[in-house]
Amino acid sequence: MIQKSQINELIKDYDKDDITVGTIGSHSALNILKGAEEQGLNSLCICTKDSKITYESFEVGDDILTVSSYHEILNKEIIEKLKQKNTILIPHGSFNAYLREKVLDLSLPIFGNRSLLTWETDREKQRKWLNQADIKLPETYEDPSKITSPVIVKFPGAKGGRGYFLANSEESYHEKAQKMIKKGLIKEKELEKAHIQDYIIGVNAYPHFFRSKAEEELELLGMDRRYESTVDSMGKIPAQEQLEINPNPTYTVVGNFPVTARESLLSEIIEMGKRVVKTSEEITDPGIVGPFCLETVFTEDLEIYTFEISARIVAGTNVEIPNSSYSYIKHGEKMYAGKRIAKEIIDCKNSNKLSEILS
Ligand code: AMP
Ligand code: AMP
Repeated sequence: MIQKSQINELIKDYDKDDITVGTIGSHSALNILKGAEEQGLNSLCICTKDSKITYESFEVGDDILTVSSYHEILNKEIIEKLKQKNTILIPHGSFNAYLREKVLDLSLPIFGNRSLLTWETDREKQRKWLNQADIKLPETYEDPSKITSPVIVKFPGAKGGRGYFLANSEESYHEKAQKMIKKGLIKEKELEKAHIQDYIIGVNAYPHFFRSKAEEELELLGMDRRYESTVDSMGKIPAQEQLEINPNPTYTVVGNFPVTARESLLSEIIEMGKRVVKTSEEITDPGIVGPFCLETVFTEDLEIYTFEISARIVAGTNVEIPNSSYSYIKHGEKMYAGKRIAKEIIDCKNSNKLSEILS
């Protein structure tokens, strides 16, 4: 893993008045690149042949660098090119999806705390972080014999929740698992890695936070919920037909909707964010920097359960361009995650704190 001292050395050679914000062309790149442009920074999009059309047609990104695969971003020549442009990379979901732990070796400054990016891909580490922050998590079970109420059974790296299933008891667990194996959705040996978690009945909401080092504060930037295929289409199929078709709910993300929470829920949401920040400082210096998101379920008793954390910008913030109700109230101007990141870079540059927000 590249060390913080190496990044500090690297940025010593950067022309701080000519910074480029760079990112991979997918996920929340429009958000990030537009934000950089609106704050007057240079912007660069690293695209594959297929994704280029999006950024060209929206005319974002001063520069578009075409690569044959995102792994090329690890090549010396590309890294040199990016350094020449004083590039700060903004990580998003595609960095984890395509580069995985290789992101730790990238010898370019990354916005935020790169070591936390790998915490979010490890369920055990996530649980440790969230438990330590006193965040309510769904109960998990090592053994299916312990199942006495509805559970969701998840598999690591399952795209769109492929092979996930719901069960009510040990019997239904084994019955459903066999069905999934028969359908080819999971393999027998994957069952060993099954993550069995209480299924929380409620509605999803994903609060987006921003931890600013320039302002030394935590902001609630907005909130979204996802539009997932096929689970969000189940309600359109009457119960009788569901029994006949016997569909497996999957959770492939297709898009997002904005959410504004009942106002009395905000105090708990903000407290949760603050505890996550405090704990992040205890687990890895300097803690979380910039955007992060809690993936939560709100029950009928208004209890909030968190089943995941994303330690970077989430694509749900795309619904908040040019602003969410919260970011408007806070900033009194149009503000969204990509623009907020660019503002943080500028504010930290102006107060000589750039090294505190890069890793
Ligand atoms: P993509 O580059 O679109 O394949 O997405 C990279 C990763 O980000 C995948 O793990 C996706 O599930 C996730 N992702 C992409 N778009 C969204 C979205 N709108 N909401 C939530 N997650 C997303
Ligand atoms: P995940 O792969 O952990 O992001 O989960 C995929 C989807 O399953 C989420 O978007 C939620 O809709 C749902 N989900 C995950 N965990 C739970 C849970 N413990 N209770 C209820 N729904 C859940």
